[in-house]
Amino acid sequence: MKKFVCAVFSHETNTFSPVPTLYEEFGRYTGGGGPTSGERAITSYKGTNTPVAAYMDLAEAEGAELDFAFSAKAVPGGPATDDILNDASAAICESIAKGCDALFLDLHGGMVTQGYDDPEGELLRRIRKEAPDLPIAVAFDFHSNISAATIDNASVITGYRTYPHVDTYDTGERAGKTLLRMLKGEVDPVILWHALPLLTHLNKQTPSRQPMKDIMDRAIEAEASGEVLNASVFGGWPLADIPHVGVHGILVCDRKNTEAGETLMAELMGEVWNRRDDFFFQVEPVPDSIARAKTLTDGPIVLADHGDVAGSGGSTDVTEVLAEVMRQGLTNVCAGPFWDPDSVKKMVAAGEGAEITIELGGKTDFPNIGVKGEPLTLTGVVQKITGGEFIVTCPKNTGMHIALGQTAVLSVGDIEIVVCTNRHEPFDLGVFTHAGIDPTSKNYILIKSRQHYRAGFEPIMKDVVMVSGAGICTSDYSLFPWKDVRRPIYPLDPDCPSGL
Ligand SMILES: [Zn+2]
Repeated sequence: MKKFVCAVFSHETNTFSPVPTLYEEFGRYTGGGGPTSGERAITSYKGTNTPVAAYMDLAEAEGAELDFAFSAKAVPGGPATDDILNDASAAICESIAKGCDALFLDLHGGMVTQGYDDPEGELLRRIRKEAPDLPIAVAFDFHSNISAATIDNASVITGYRTYPHVDTYDTGERAGKTLLRMLKGEVDPVILWHALPLLTHLNKQTPSRQPMKDIMDRAIEAEASGEVLNASVFGGWPLADIPHVGVHGILVCDRKNTEAGETLMAELMGEVWNRRDDFFFQVEPVPDSIARAKTLTDGPIVLADHGDVAGSGGSTDVTEVLAEVMRQGLTNVCAGPFWDPDSVKKMVAAGEGAEITIELGGKTDFPNIGVKGEPLTLTGVVQKITGGEFIVTCPKNTGMHIALGQTAVLSVGDIEIVVCTNRHEPFDLGVFTHAGIDPTSKNYILIKSRQHYRAGFEPIMKDVVMVSGAGICTSDYSLFPWKDVRRPIYPLDPDCPSGL
């Protein structure tokens, strides 16, 4: 019987974010209490839309024994502690040492710890040192910054090809299937890699829209036709002040047919470079965005505040956009979730139905961009108190258990505001519906999200207004104190060469 090992090691680190990423938070999606393994990890991920769920199904189909060695996944924030890397590599190496035919990894690729700017590369380097010939498949997020250490120590790499990420299971399956072909001696995978020195805006990376669409479509076609074994283009994770940030192309080719891969790589990366100026988003002042939203009367209109997104390391306690929505008198609004455990506690103490005044949000300062937290004083009625739990039903991470922690809804006139204990990017309607709010009945839905909201909200919304609110996920890169990023890089260095 074959024996496989799998692991999840996932964090998107915004190196500018002041929000700490604590060790315990790596158990957020597996029932809490820090990283886990074995049965608890299997139960949490089995049947979900995630790469590791595909690994489990492939192992089952092969009749292989599967050891789920380590599971660590936290909400994006500031740099994680080195413990998480050390524990992941120790657990995976220990499982491999017991005997293992192949390793299947579900990594993010955008992680930074306090001591390592490339923990995924370091993890692979440590594993490879213990197991020089082990076939290793890696599935990465679309927002990966890939390093030479990663390329040198993996056998097969694939990446998500959607944003919002709805092809997460497929990505694991694509990597896993190629690795199984390698195990059977059908192919001898070689990884081709090119990193473009390009610091794009997250708002403009989406593969379902231009400028990325044609490029990703070409990669998908090349994999489907068998031109290469796997083809992935990564938008990169730009909110990271590290040397290996950029837009990456990764092609897995059969050793006897790398020429086609080299031609394809030049084509894909050349096209990204030709279109580089289209990957930048024009920031609009918040009052102008809200005034524009006010002219749109056929709701629900999503107001996507993308400066303060939990899924990009934001604190989600910045109230600038909510304050502007109130100032301009938008009506019939639901908003949230805002991260403010203190205000939740006060609302819980007051009880449902009580009138209360709270200082919402503004608890976080952002020294890296010179912004201080500013709470918003609100008087309203505690409409609902919940445990903050729901199961995702939209196409992104379908089936995953979400824990907002204790949550309360404050209604201020006809504005319903969800306030929670744990940070969470709203991509599923559950953030509102679990608290008895029907977002389909609203004129406006104010959420802190950039693209992922589309997974759950696109089917119910009539339009969207992108709002460039303040926060540590800002698209104004001139605010960041860059010092470790690779140089030259476009657009910080306008004459930067592509390296092609
Ligand atoms: Zn991502």
